[in-house]
Amino acid sequence: MIEEKEFNALSSINLDLTEEQRILLKTVDEMCRKIRPIEDRCYLERRFNDSLKDILSSYHMLGLPISKKYGDGQGADTVTYALALERIGEEGTGVRTFLSVHTSLCQLTIQQWGTEEQKEALLAKGTRGEYIFAFGLTEPNAGSDPASLSTNFEERNGRYVINGQKMWISNGSIADYVIVFAYPKGKREGMCAFIVSKDSPGFEARRIENKMGLPTSDTAAVYLDNVEVPKDMMLGPQGKGLSVAYSALMNGRLSVAAGCVGVIRDCLKEMLNYSSVRVQHGKKIGKHQLVQRHIAKVSAELEASYLLVLKAAYLKQRYVENTSNIQLREEADRMIALAKYYAANASFDAANRAVQVFGANGYSLENRPARHLLDTRVTMIYEGTNEILEQKIAVSLLGKDFEAYR
Ligand SMILES: Cc1cc2nc3c(=O)[nH]c(=O)nc-3n(C[C@H](O)[C@H](O)[C@H](O)COP(=O)(O)OP(=O)(O)OC[C@H]3O[C@@H](n4cnc5c(N)ncnc54)[C@H](O)[C@@H]3O)c2cc1C
Repeated sequence: MIEEKEFNALSSINLDLTEEQRILLKTVDEMCRKIRPIEDRCYLERRFNDSLKDILSSYHMLGLPISKKYGDGQGADTVTYALALERIGEEGTGVRTFLSVHTSLCQLTIQQWGTEEQKEALLAKGTRGEYIFAFGLTEPNAGSDPASLSTNFEERNGRYVINGQKMWISNGSIADYVIVFAYPKGKREGMCAFIVSKDSPGFEARRIENKMGLPTSDTAAVYLDNVEVPKDMMLGPQGKGLSVAYSALMNGRLSVAAGCVGVIRDCLKEMLNYSSVRVQHGKKIGKHQLVQRHIAKVSAELEASYLLVLKAAYLKQRYVENTSNIQLREEADRMIALAKYYAANASFDAANRAVQVFGANGYSLENRPARHLLDTRVTMIYEGTNEILEQKIAVSLLGKDFEAYR
């Protein structure tokens, strides 16, 4: 059996982390060990893991990258946050999705675009897990093209009134607030973002069952029937909804990419463990060269994905420190898209190879490779499909004149 020590060295380089960063990542590791048996049970019972909120908040992880000014915000820099998400990703894409949506897609977006009143009211409780957030962009007829959404709002009696439907919303039926995107009624421009309470009359969330994977993650359809939103719950300036959405996706994609690194690392650990003990044709299967090829390939993909995520996180952090620098923003956006595109595909390939190395045992949900295979498939779809990211990456190099649609 290969020692745990060697596993920990997989895809890590000396980043000269501070004592504070090291302690934080050690705490993340401790938390992940606590999550694993519960997540295992929930997965096999195919049910939402409702312990995550309490466990993550007890370890102060729900506000990891949020400013210390708000509630339980830890003020972690982007690289530290990405390293934490990598570790959490090892526990499964469902676990990482819960945190990514709550913190990257929603809380970072509120921190970037919200008024001081919104931040104080929402982030103080969000970082403590007293409020959970969801992100409502996708609709039944608007996915890759969010500009084509049909949810609408109008002003009535000093409030906004929203009508429409959102689809495939992670955390949708457990969230206290959903960030909802809508056009002014009768218009196809001037999109706005709103922070909508689940307690508003006319708001309904219905959990989506029978997903291919991610059974431990909550995904819902959200219905908005004349839902009233107070004036001070618009997020960002009037008409800037698409900019709010794209900035949220930049945060979200980085967290997906980091989670995928964790998936690849976990698959590699599983392959190393299994091929070190399983014997066929009189020798451990790890001695068969074709099995070694799977290990070598996943190891290379792990190193490549890890470095891409680090580069993307580093650029994002530089942008966070210089938000007026448009060039830095574009560079970070491009590298995040690239990291998500690459790591998502690499994680699916890693899970597929891990299943292969496990043989029939790989086909059982009792073992982690099968779960990773089913779960990480979604990372090639949500927060920018492979195809949309391919176009984004190419256009970022060719120039805007080469955009295929607009
Ligand atoms: C488990 C899960 C969780 C999710 N969580 C959330 C969430 O929290 N919030 C949220 O808002 N959404 C969420 N989504 C939705 C997700 O972001 C969308 O599914 C995604 O954006 C793709 O949209 P679509 O499914 O409508 O596919 P479509 O846009 O209909 O695309 C179908 C196919 O056509 C391709 N395609 C589309 N346009 C082009 C083009 N111009 N060029 C080339 N190919 C193209 C796509 O790449 C894809 O292969 C989630 C989805 C899943 C499955």
